[in-house]
Amino acid sequence: MMKKPFVAGNWKMNTDSHTSVRLADDIAAGCSQTAGRSFEVAVIPPFVYLQAVVRTLSASSIAVGAQDIYFEQKGAFTGEISAAMLKDVGCVYVLCGHSERRHILGETDRMVNRKVQAAISGGLLPIVCVGELLEERKAVQTDQVVKRQIKNGLDGLNDEKISAVTIAYEPVWAIGTGLTATPQQAQEVHALIRQMLAEMYDNQAAKEMRILYGGSVQPDNTAGLMAQQDIDGLLVGGASLKADDFLKIIQEAI
Ligand code: PEP
Repeated sequence: MMKKPFVAGNWKMNTDSHTSVRLADDIAAGCSQTAGRSFEVAVIPPFVYLQAVVRTLSASSIAVGAQDIYFEQKGAFTGEISAAMLKDVGCVYVLCGHSERRHILGETDRMVNRKVQAAISGGLLPIVCVGELLEERKAVQTDQVVKRQIKNGLDGLNDEKISAVTIAYEPVWAIGTGLTATPQQAQEVHALIRQMLAEMYDNQAAKEMRILYGGSVQPDNTAGLMAQQDIDGLLVGGASLKADDFLKIIQEAI
């Protein structure tokens, strides 16, 4: 059975209290008119607009996710947000290990793993992001980097916990740069990830896990990416900030 395509929009540090609600509203209105295969959509706004966006989307089937989480449950961690807080405001998903957090904010594989564990224990569904830098691709280290990130990021998850996880392969050189991995380049890495998951968990679990592609996804490159056997959906940054583009991507993906 084919998996439902899953399209998630990461708004990063964009929008304000007015535009976040309007964007959510426009996406919900567009999705309600989108006919075709069944599909799943999530939006991932900045923390401070989560509640307003959850409220705006309450009558829709669009899920809301957070861009990050902290791995401790509560206490003296100024500025951090726990799984329970995200759950309390209506989040379903949470990004763990987005490349901007790994490379700008210094998140390590170990921190990503603790965030994934905290998310699952708190009843959230983590979207675990992996991907190589340009110099790593040039040095033919893509497989090695992605394998390390997957192995460390999912460390300690059993067969039951892994079913909560979605993986996003996002080559860092393709994020926000306008450069996209070709469908073949993306498929090669997705197949590698699927193979690794089959070795770490059972074959059925590996088949059922969703592996999203992210990196300068636009309406005109969606169909080629989604035609690949191991690409189950898309994590969209820049293009998710324009309702029309995001809706076109969803339409192309289903
Ligand atoms: C992202 O933020 O995860 C992303 C893929 O961004 P963009 O689509 O802008 O490359």
